[in-house]
Amino acid sequence: MEPVYLDNNATTRTDPEVVAAMLPFFTEQFGNASSMHAFGAEVGGAMATARKQLQALLGAEFDHEIVYTSGGTEADNMAILSALETQGDRDEVVTSAVEHPAVLSLVAHLEKTGRAKVHVIGVDAKGRLDIEAYRKALGPKTAIVSIMWANNETGTIFPVEQLAALAHQAGALFHTDAVQAVGKIPIDLKTSEIDMLSLSGHKLHGPKGVGALFVRKGVRLRPLVRGGHQERGRRAGTENVPAIIGLGRAAELALAHMADEQTRVAALRDRLEQGLLQRIGNSFVTGDPDNRLPNTANVAFEYIEGEAILLLMNREGIAASSGSACTSGSLEPSHVLRAMNVPYTAAHGAIRFSFSRENSEIDVDRVLEAMPPIIERLREMSPFWRERDKAAGAFNPTYA
Ligand SMILES: *Cc1c(COP(=O)(O)O)cnc(C)c1O
Repeated sequence: MEPVYLDNNATTRTDPEVVAAMLPFFTEQFGNASSMHAFGAEVGGAMATARKQLQALLGAEFDHEIVYTSGGTEADNMAILSALETQGDRDEVVTSAVEHPAVLSLVAHLEKTGRAKVHVIGVDAKGRLDIEAYRKALGPKTAIVSIMWANNETGTIFPVEQLAALAHQAGALFHTDAVQAVGKIPIDLKTSEIDMLSLSGHKLHGPKGVGALFVRKGVRLRPLVRGGHQERGRRAGTENVPAIIGLGRAAELALAHMADEQTRVAALRDRLEQGLLQRIGNSFVTGDPDNRLPNTANVAFEYIEGEAILLLMNREGIAASSGSACTSGSLEPSHVLRAMNVPYTAAHGAIRFSFSRENSEIDVDRVLEAMPPIIERLREMSPFWRERDKAAGAFNPTYA
């Protein structure tokens, strides 16, 4: 049986057309774009095309607004660290409790080392930002706001334009981690107040290890990596040419498939969600149903463990992910679901299904068939399920 891949928010398959576009840049066209000979010029021309392709996806108007990086993580780090240097004596950062670790672990480090004061804004039960707390956190010391466009675990979309306008009223820069938004929902930076935006190749069927930071014309940027004059001195080191070419082609394909993402992919996601809720009791969808990515479903199955669910799903050839960051071995549920106050009884059993344009109805059918027996089996073994009335307030004791 064909595997069913529903973990596209973790990474996507590099589109074969992207691979084809990259290949010549490992072989005949191996030149260094900085070289003053034909080998370099050929590569320079292709890189210019790739830049235009990415600009088109972002609706970015001017040349030189895109700085290539090693991925979304580097772009996030670059934006925040740069602002702390260019914004005079402003030394405060405002961010949200549901950011990716690329932002949260950086700002925690900055706070710990005394380099910034950090305001972490909470969210409500649907994952929506607390706008009142956000307004209050902004002030004359705010250097930068970094708030994601769309959440990777629940798909919840933040009102970034409104947030950017408020940041500007306080004289702060506005950065958004748009890694999950780019390629999935329309973006038009021409008509936007966003100063800086991070994206990543491998989340939109491009290669891994490449991303970009959009830096609006006129916004100052301090390099994170110093050395040669590549990227107009903003990011030193010989460019990852094949990956940059691949990202350009991936951007072009994403733009072409955008309508499909909004309609067909969203419909697949909705059918999966409704089917799961119909077939499986004590389950619910997390996130903001009115404002989220078309490809993401986060479904919580109460009284069981996400890791166990994934293991049994994997045996059926189905790949998804659980929110829990069990990397530390602590089995704490996801920081995103905790910030939303999803009860432990449910947060532990949350599964993220993330679609892409490569998924089909067959995938949805397979999951709808496989899930009910998996959940039933795990619940039969769960002491919390058997004693769910008692467990309601105290699911977590064994993991505390
Ligand atoms: C994947 C992801 C990142 C990290 O991007 P990399 O290219 O893997 O470094 C950052 N932010 C969000 C929201 C992501 O989903």
